[in-house]
Amino acid sequence: MAANLAATAANLEDPSAARGLFRQVMGRFATGVTVITTSLSGEVFGMTANAFMAGSLEPMLCVVSINRTAKMHERLCESGHYGVSFLSQEQRHLSAHFAGQRVGHVDPEFCFRGRTPVVRHAVAAVTAEILDTVACGDHTLFVGRIASLEAAAARRPLLFYAGRYARMDLLSPIEEVEPPAFW
Ligand code: FAD
Repeated sequence: MAANLAATAANLEDPSAARGLFRQVMGRFATGVTVITTSLSGEVFGMTANAFMAGSLEPMLCVVSINRTAKMHERLCESGHYGVSFLSQEQRHLSAHFAGQRVGHVDPEFCFRGRTPVVRHAVAAVTAEILDTVACGDHTLFVGRIASLEAAAARRPLLFYAGRYARMDLLSPIEEVEPPAFW
């Protein structure tokens, strides 16, 4: 551990090495994968994101962090609302597609909750009206007030860890007891 900390301190003095280390360390935080969606002038737009979290229970808020250079950034500022679809492990191709990677022919299906689109056949989805934006360096945090919530019991989530997609191993739970509820 001490050796790791020494390496960390040395790397942080070199901006390029520090950025690499930042990516590596943050990538060790395992997440799901979402597609952020919105609609503008009748057109639907989507973008892959894993910087998503529940923000507050009372009132119910969620937060997504969007790079200021992403087209979705401008789109959210204009539309004022977004959907967040939690992808299933069968939807890995959609994650790649909505991250701008070429994965052959992809024809994503959307459905609407009010004016907000979500991706069909996701594990779960929320829609939100944008309540606030917070500058966060080269990203912006979009705080949304929850407008709809849904979940599909039988689907398994797509995971992202250390820059790679992964499946959840439901056959090997770490413990049998329920963790305490904190929400
Ligand atoms: P575009 O480049 O316009 O859209 C992205 C892709 O989606 C394009 O291929 C486009 O053709 C396609 N697309 C859009 N709408 C539709 C539609 N209606 N029908 C069919 N195809 C459509 N970036 C962040 O800012 N925050 C994050 O939290 C984040 N997390 C990520 C997690 C993962 C696992 C990955 C792989 C990427 C992540 N990114 C994140 C990066 C982000 O997904 C890419 O930078 C993305 O290309 C930005 O898209 P854009 O908004 O610029 O839009």
